[in-house]
Amino acid sequence: MILPTTQILRQMADNADEKYNFYFQKTLKARKPENREIYREKYQKERIKHNRLCDLIMKVSLSIYGKKFSKLSDIQKQKIAKSYELSLERKVQRKHLFETTIRVSLFFFQSSLTADYGQFQCEKCSSIFYHSPARIMQGKELLYECVCGYCANNISGEYIYN
Ligand SMILES: [Zn+2]
Repeated sequence: MILPTTQILRQMADNADEKYNFYFQKTLKARKPENREIYREKYQKERIKHNRLCDLIMKVSLSIYGKKFSKLSDIQKQKIAKSYELSLERKVQRKHLFETTIRVSLFFFQSSLTADYGQFQCEKCSSIFYHSPARIMQGKELLYECVCGYCANNISGEYIYN
């Protein structure tokens, strides 16, 4: 069996990342909720594919690295293992922070609840409102495309609107 090289795997991972971005943009632009769902499913699949490929790249490079690794002294090995461990930890922390952070972006400039930008319907509480709608993201995930200020405040736990 011929194993794929890390270069090929990297290309595949980049490709999945590109597709992810493509479908993610489509989700943002989709007007019909059912289309949004279709694109959301697609981009989530690409993300899983990308993560699996990255995992595989790491395993392949570790096995190549392992052969060189056996020639080092014990202290050198420990140092490398420790710094590798730390970098993984930091990566996980950063990823976790990014994925759990709620981000609210307003359609319009004013965050006043009395502003009048026309009529909108909240995706979460279904109420009709006139101030600037907000889009809610968590990490790369789109939670809501169009919510009212009260829901945006509630979800984010901050007084973004007042
Ligand atoms: Zn609402």
